[in-house]
Amino acid sequence: MKAIQVEKFGGPERLMLADVSKPRPGLGEVLVRLAYAGVNYIDVYMRDGSYARSHTYQTPLPMTIGMEGAGRIEEVGEGVSGLSVGDTVAYCLSRGSYAEFAVVPAWKVVRVPAGIDLAIATTLMLQGSTAHYLSRSAFPLKRGDTCLVHAGAGGVGQLLVQLAKRAGATVIATVGSEDKARLARERGADHTILYRQMDFGAEVRRLTDGRGVDVVYDSVGRDTLPRSFRALKRRGVCISFGASSGQPEPVPLLELAEAGSVFLTRPHLADYMASADEIRARAADLFAAVAEGALHVAIDKVFPLAEASAAHGTIEGRATRGKLLLKIH
Ligand code: NDP
Repeated sequence: MKAIQVEKFGGPERLMLADVSKPRPGLGEVLVRLAYAGVNYIDVYMRDGSYARSHTYQTPLPMTIGMEGAGRIEEVGEGVSGLSVGDTVAYCLSRGSYAEFAVVPAWKVVRVPAGIDLAIATTLMLQGSTAHYLSRSAFPLKRGDTCLVHAGAGGVGQLLVQLAKRAGATVIATVGSEDKARLARERGADHTILYRQMDFGAEVRRLTDGRGVDVVYDSVGRDTLPRSFRALKRRGVCISFGASSGQPEPVPLLELAEAGSVFLTRPHLADYMASADEIRARAADLFAAVAEGALHVAIDKVFPLAEASAAHGTIEGRATRGKLLLKIH
């Protein structure tokens, strides 16, 4: 089968289309014939070696990357119950979706309800579940809260803005350009800040009458994290969940005290999708929100599998306005 392989860590040019053997499902696994693979920032970190020492997201070379996909079950391994050949499924956090077929642990797979488009189902698994756990579990937003969402027009960003609004929060989104500001507002952001052009910390203070926000969702990392603490209210929460601009410098603990005794957490999605029940509950919530018309999933661009490196260039080049997908079957 065709798959995108990484033999050495490095730039997008390291993504090579190769012929590899079709995998077979083992105990507790299913083989999925992929319709789509999602392109996510985690694929960049796995390709460039940022996760070389991660136990949670292992990157043994050579490897087929891709952590999100959807398609039909082609084969069911021993010991799997409740899933059958032909079922339409989606999943994330199992490596190898940039390929025609992938073997996936059955407990990570959810059935896609009739009426949900497969491109949308793919997107909901990793980016959707991320926005879900951030807004419902890591810091469960409630009416009256105010949150700051960095990169509010990106893939996760647009979904997080919508879920935060659905929870009743006031949303301030940072964005890299005027057209992204428009997009974040269309998704429901109450305020947008062009963080390349102005001091977002000062602007947040102005917008909150000096108080600061209850929570910052920071996916940008190096360029924003130190200033994100200063946008928080006293005893607010900073969730540093990504590093699109590079890994942030280590944080001196006293800095958290000086920012108002704030809290800092650095979560992995895997710890918020730790069981089949948790995965299914998040997916069910997201599928229902889409079915009700309450969650808009923006599919930005769809690339053929062979153009995975162009897709990585797009996400790293800050050119995403929603989801990037690879179309496979
Ligand atoms: P996005 O579509 O959000 O793309 C990244 C965006 O980050 C860009 O569009 C850009 O928006 C902003 N950005 C700021 N600085 C830079 C820079 N120097 N280089 C590139 N982009 C920059 O990607 P995703 O939605 O796929 O992922 C968003 C983030 O969420 C990633 O950091 C990812 O690692 C993280 N994530 C974390 C998870 C977790 O559980 N910890 C799970 C899933 C995703 P702008 O132009 O507006 O500045």
